[in-house]
Amino acid sequence: MRTSPSGPDPRPRSVKVRAPGKVNVSLRVGPRRPDGYHSVASIYLAVSLFEEVTATTSPEPGVTVSLSPESTLDLDELDIPLDERNLAVRAARLMAEMTENPTGVHLTITKRVPVAGGMGGGSADAAAALLACDALWGSGLSKEELAHVAAELGADVPFALLGGAAVGLGVGDQLSPALATTRFDWVLVPAPFGLSTPAVFSELDRLRDAEGLTVPEPTHVEPAVLAALRAGDAGGLSHLLVNDLQRAAVGLAPQLRDTLGWADSHGALASIVSGSGPTVALLAADAAAAADLAEELAHQGIEALAVHGPVPGARIVSDTLL
Ligand code: ATP
Repeated sequence: MRTSPSGPDPRPRSVKVRAPGKVNVSLRVGPRRPDGYHSVASIYLAVSLFEEVTATTSPEPGVTVSLSPESTLDLDELDIPLDERNLAVRAARLMAEMTENPTGVHLTITKRVPVAGGMGGGSADAAAALLACDALWGSGLSKEELAHVAAELGADVPFALLGGAAVGLGVGDQLSPALATTRFDWVLVPAPFGLSTPAVFSELDRLRDAEGLTVPEPTHVEPAVLAALRAGDAGGLSHLLVNDLQRAAVGLAPQLRDTLGWADSHGALASIVSGSGPTVALLAADAAAAADLAEELAHQGIEALAVHGPVPGARIVSDTLL
């Protein structure tokens, strides 16, 4: 337990933090481990689709949560738990345990990242809640300590805190920043349904078992991918995008083939399922090409979002005394 030199500020306050969704430009998955998890070797890229969490001091003890009407997702259609199963709530509770005299807090989440979409939206909420409560309560945790708390919440949470581009080993939580100074432009095509991450991993295990395929533990990422990121070489990167989970996601949701095929025939440099899916990420040559692709998809009645990355990880947007 830590306290900042000044201790927690007792005045009612509201801290707003934004944190990005991600795509995996490379995702290698090892065999199922005895603990049920899979080791991965992943390259994360944070993209400009942001979740926002506002943490407001509450006179009631404990943590409560609601979803903001400013969310760009159709909240009526979504199954987002508003109790202790919510990752942002779990993050705030963990921070409270590590803080002396935490106040009650209400979290308001603005959802923009597709839910159960393979883009780490819940993880972004958790990272944002961690940072917001850290500021609200003056927990005094170091960056490393915050990253450690983040890893307890989920494999993708440390990256939502860090942002930019990074290599993730272990279950994705052992991060090393990767150099990517130039922006890459993408079009995201969210699906009107979600995929459960554990179900996609299980499907991959099933496919591999059926094929008698034994895969090694992934220990490193392809240096060529890091070189393409470093050079800002979208063309080069387009030949290197890889996601071991893609065939499992497509196996569970065969309609994803249409989006992947459409992208290939309409001028995207490449297309890939993001993480465990079902969001499909189309890599474009530049911002103008991404805008064209998004417009063409919109003409066909398909939701599409032009984004770019890398962008920073969780950051405080405002800190207001009430
Ligand atoms: P993963 O990080 O496991 O790949 P994902 O990005 O595909 O997940 P999320 O949007 O993070 O998907 O949500 C996965 C599930 O987690 C949801 O179906 C929901 O039940 C639960 N969940 C918990 N907290 C949240 C949250 N703050 N926002 C959205 N879903 C949440």
